[in-house]
This record gives sequence, C-alpha cells and structure tokens, in this order.
Amino acid sequence: MNIILLGPPGAGKGTQAKRLVEKYGIPQISTGDMFREHLKNQTELGKKAKEYMDKGQLVPDEIVIGMVEERLSQPDCEKGFMLDGFPRTVPQAEALDKLLEKMGKKIDHVILIDVPEEELVKRLTGRRTCKQCGMMYHVIFKPPKVDGKCDVCGGELYQRDDDTEETVRNRLKVYNDQTKPLVDYYENKGLLRRIDGMGSIDEIFERICQVLG
Ligand SMILES: [Zn+2]
Repeated sequence: MNIILLGPPGAGKGTQAKRLVEKYGIPQISTGDMFREHLKNQTELGKKAKEYMDKGQLVPDEIVIGMVEERLSQPDCEKGFMLDGFPRTVPQAEALDKLLEKMGKKIDHVILIDVPEEELVKRLTGRRTCKQCGMMYHVIFKPPKVDGKCDVCGGELYQRDDDTEETVRNRLKVYNDQTKPLVDYYENKGLLRRIDGMGSIDEIFERICQVLG
C-alpha cells in the first residue's frame, strides 16, 4: 500500500497520518525527517543539501528525489509507505513517478483531506497561547476553564500573529495555489481520493480506511 497524504493546514493530517501508521504498519515518510537524518549523518546528499540551505536557497529536486529513493529502498517500505509533504509540485510528482517505475513500485492512493475554507479559518484562528508558560488552547476545541486565563499558571492568553484571520487566510491561499496543480495531476491519473474532513477524528479515519479497503 503506497500512499500520498495531502491536506491543508488545520485539516488534521498529522493526526490521521499517525493512525494510519499504527493500523497498517507502514512508515510515514516526510521530507523534514529525511533532511534531518541526512544532515545528522552527514551523508553526501545531506552535505549537498546543506550547501543550498546555508545560502538560503531551495534544495533542488534531484537532491530531494535522491533522498526519497534512498528512503524507499529501505526494508520497512516493502509493505508500503505513506509520503507526507512530498511531492509538493508537479515536477516532483513526475520525478517520483519515474523513480517508482524504476523501482517497480507505484502510488496506489492519493488521499486528500478536504475541509471547507471557512471551517479551516475557524479552527486555525481559534488558537490561544499562554503568555507565561506557552500552553496552547483553542476557543472551541480546548477552551480554558476561565475565559482568557491559563489553566496551568493563570497567565494571560493571547492570539499569536500566525493565528490571526488575515495570516491564516493568506496561508490557505498559498497552500491552495501550490497544491491545486498537484491535485489535478493525481485526479487525471485516477488516483485522487477526496475524504470529507468534517466530523470527529474517528469518523474521518473510518472514511480513509474504507477508501484504502
Ligand atoms: Zn500558562
């Protein structure tokens, strides 16, 4: 079972990824983790990537693809894998297809967790942070016992700049602009599975499992 997981910020992708790893026993492969591994172990790919990162430049696709190839060749990927945060662009998706063909593998499902924008805005702007201890709250999902006050230390809760409506809407627009071509790419290949991302964590997980069969 080879899966790609897509979803906007606030769709609960991380939570669902964790559940999928537990249920199906396949590894979650994220570019962040791969980079950290290669940098830590000072591999050739890691050193090359670091040169670009030090200059504040994007790491070229061929280096990222090299890391993906190395990762997918490891024994824990034999039963399947779940890609998270890669591919991000159509050229990366095409490079991935070529790589998988070379390895005699293919993508089976591209899971897109779909949540209406207004709901995402509600979720992402509801976050509150304690000024004193950094504890996180949510006005709907995890409200403090006393409005505006931290349960742990009594500190004042505030809305971080990242969580204001303007910033959130902008983040969602950037995400949509980037992801739309990728979604179209997989839709054309008949691999896209849209999952209704409204409801409880269990309900959404159940929908994903039904699609995966
Ligand atoms: Zn606090």
